Amino acid sequence: MAASCIAASELLHNIKLIPYHKASCVLIRRISTSKLKCSSQPVAEATSAPQQLVGVVGLEIHAQISSNTKLFSGSSVQFLAPPNSLVSFFDASLPGTLPVLNRRCVEAAVMTGLALNCTINKKSLFDRKHYFYADLPAGYQITQQRRPVAVDGVLTYSFLGGKKRNQVIRKNVHIKQIQLEQDSGKSLHDDVNNQTLIDLNRAGVGLMELVMEPDMSGGEEAAAAVRELQLILQALGTCQGNMSEGQLRVDANVSVHRAGEPLGVRTEVKNINSIRFLAKAIDFEIQRQTDVVQRGGTVKNETRAYDSKSGETVPMRDKEGLQDYRFMPEPNLPPLIVFEDNASLPAGIDACQAVVVQTIKEGLPELPGIKRDRLVQAYGILPEHSFTLVNEDGLMEYFEAVMRATKMEPRKVIGWVTNELVGLLKQQNTSVSHSPVTPAALAELLELQEAGHISSSVAKQVFQEMWRSPGKTGAEIIREQDLGLVSDAAKLHRVCQKVVDSHPDEVCAIRSGNKKVLNRLMGLVQKELKGRADPVLVREILQEKTS
Ligand code: ADP
Ligand code: MG
Repeated sequence: MAASCIAASELLHNIKLIPYHKASCVLIRRISTSKLKCSSQPVAEATSAPQQLVGVVGLEIHAQISSNTKLFSGSSVQFLAPPNSLVSFFDASLPGTLPVLNRRCVEAAVMTGLALNCTINKKSLFDRKHYFYADLPAGYQITQQRRPVAVDGVLTYSFLGGKKRNQVIRKNVHIKQIQLEQDSGKSLHDDVNNQTLIDLNRAGVGLMELVMEPDMSGGEEAAAAVRELQLILQALGTCQGNMSEGQLRVDANVSVHRAGEPLGVRTEVKNINSIRFLAKAIDFEIQRQTDVVQRGGTVKNETRAYDSKSGETVPMRDKEGLQDYRFMPEPNLPPLIVFEDNASLPAGIDACQAVVVQTIKEGLPELPGIKRDRLVQAYGILPEHSFTLVNEDGLMEYFEAVMRATKMEPRKVIGWVTNELVGLLKQQNTSVSHSPVTPAALAELLELQEAGHISSSVAKQVFQEMWRSPGKTGAEIIREQDLGLVSDAAKLHRVCQKVVDSHPDEVCAIRSGNKKVLNRLMGLVQKELKGRADPVLVREILQEKTS
């Protein structure tokens, strides 16, 4: 095959990109790389009216394993490295090179499987899946078709739904399997010079393919499930989960049917690079198929691409012709064996050479769903706040650190963390770990407010100032800028009198029973004193003066 010869030889001379003639590419594009199947499984739960068409969604997700080296070779894994700089002879499919399985990748897949409640197959197998594409120099991908490493799991995800979007809705999606497989290289189509360039840096990087059952019904659910998966993978450290960098690639299988009837013909939507677009692409596709069926047409089994500019899905290639991948066992890799626990290791095999499920299980971190439940339970905060805390990397740890350093009620602290802190982080486009205000410093500021040394509006002002001048404590700023609470009765009386005198209409309204107007006067007093007036005293004084 010409492609791999060019790839291999030029690679060795460290040429930046490998050209591949465009004409061949056109040919290649016509060959489908996806599978064809029209499932006829009945849907487990049918919630809508019998005659109405409902959407059915099943996701196939490729998660790039966080690992220093590739699945079967020692080449480094790195994003945005110079083209073809991370390619070993094996990655370029030079004859005579052999795969050596990366234990880290196996451990990552087992860990992910455990976190998703899968059964871990003690013995799994590698297979060759053949197809011809310029960025696949071997002409086949090593994958796990007959017996994947993990099967039969479930992902529990939750999202905020209901009218006010504050009700926690919890759902399950079944995981059919998780398989280990190699990534392909990348083709870059250079239309100006009418050629295709091949970058093999990504060729052979370890992927986990997660296949979900068609358990979901629309974009919102799919988006929530992927977000949950992303958080789980990040918590485990098995995949960084960045969709825009291609670490998490989601293909959405979408069909429509009438509840109670067999599933409809599905389309597969590709090229979705964010969770937001995933939801939009799915909802668009459900609507499009609904229109087709309602007009009496039939949905074609095809692969479609999502165009984020138009918000539409467009046909890419049809899948009517069955693709034969000529699956065969990978002859250069023995079955992959993992062990239940140290006791089941055969004699002569050291625990550090083997993959031991029990050891991985013991190392599982607290997962996002558990974190949220614990936060609501332990601190009595609202579920939506628990979502915010878990969504942002490091925010939960920040909140808990503040809680350890103060005796304040969690409900008072949570607003500071989810509004004030998150607001400034967003504004400055930075992460919690770079917050110039430490949890201890925030706790100290909150204590000052709680003790009545400053008003809440001044506390916010001080917080912003602390942000601008890292290292300065709240107390220092309050002292330097003289922001302490004014509770000097004579001074307060003077300011209140001035406000009362200059607002006869308001005073009149209060006197005739409209007590709410007092708040306006309080606001005016605070304005005069730059938010520093003791609110309790001001209220008392104003009440006295307007009675
Ligand atoms: P294949 O053998 O063709 O790969 P699978 O049964 O493995 O088909 O399913 C592939 C993906 O398509 C899975 O994620 C599954 O949930 C989804 N899927 C299967 N049938 C449907 C359908 N009718 N509607 C929506 N998704 C489907
Ligand atoms: Mg499949």
